[in-house]
Amino acid sequence: MSRKKKLKSKYIFRRVLFVVLLLLLLGLGALGLRELLGPQEEENSGSSGPGSSPASQPEPPATQTGGEPEGGLSQSRPEPLPEPEPEPGSQPEPPSSQEAPKPADLDGDWNLVLINPTHAIEKELDIEFDEVQGYKFDKRITGKIRELIAAAKEDGISLAIVSGYRTMDRSRLLYNNKIAEYKNMGYDDAAARVAAARWVAPPGTSEHHSGLAMDIVSADYYTKYSDLVEAFENDKEAIWLKDNCARFGFILRFPKDKTEITGINFEPWHFRYVGEEHAKKIMEQGLCLEEYLGETD
Ligand SMILES: [Zn+2]
Repeated sequence: MSRKKKLKSKYIFRRVLFVVLLLLLLGLGALGLRELLGPQEEENSGSSGPGSSPASQPEPPATQTGGEPEGGLSQSRPEPLPEPEPEPGSQPEPPSSQEAPKPADLDGDWNLVLINPTHAIEKELDIEFDEVQGYKFDKRITGKIRELIAAAKEDGISLAIVSGYRTMDRSRLLYNNKIAEYKNMGYDDAAARVAAARWVAPPGTSEHHSGLAMDIVSADYYTKYSDLVEAFENDKEAIWLKDNCARFGFILRFPKDKTEITGINFEPWHFRYVGEEHAKKIMEQGLCLEEYLGETD
């Protein structure tokens, strides 16, 4: 072999070696990338937070246009996957007040915690759950819910829960859906947010985060209505609930004549546990929780 040829074959060998090394590196890079992405995928599909068994998340599709749109009696459909955590800054603005809500006071009596448009939780509360009719609640109140439903039954009133505990992710999804609905109707972004907040509490401000609130209607509700609607107030079930809820520690949380104070539309289906003593005073005096707690501003 001539010196020239030797040099040339050496050159070719180096080139081949270089290409092989390059391919090897690319392969390793791809593997590494997949490794990086792998666990994230698992996280998204695997864990939907504590109590992620399908039976514990029966909130049906958000098809309602009136009320908090989580109603519906079919309990077979698992809760849709929460949306990905939004980028900082894309968090929905607070409702009408335009001011950021204060942090909810979590150090007082557990049954009097105030979570509303002006008092928000910043992270999920630490709750021990129990279930009634497939819906999750703080386990300290499920006995009372069962008593209430049984007492109604004795009076010939059949009740069905349509919403219980709700995660912040779930609220974010419902709220964003509602905003989109209003935008489709021609509202601009700010107006859509304000309008949506009267129906669906923005994440962090829904009382359902506490595990102390339930939406409850007649067992045959959805044979009469397609949405949660105010007209329910005239049904015997709504009347029974209003008249009897306090005996079991519940209050009608968003009364018709208090919408200016609560910032939430009249919801004859939404009941909140506060304990019998407080519930009796609140219902007898015709107050809303904000008034009772002196938190009306
Ligand atoms: Zn509700």
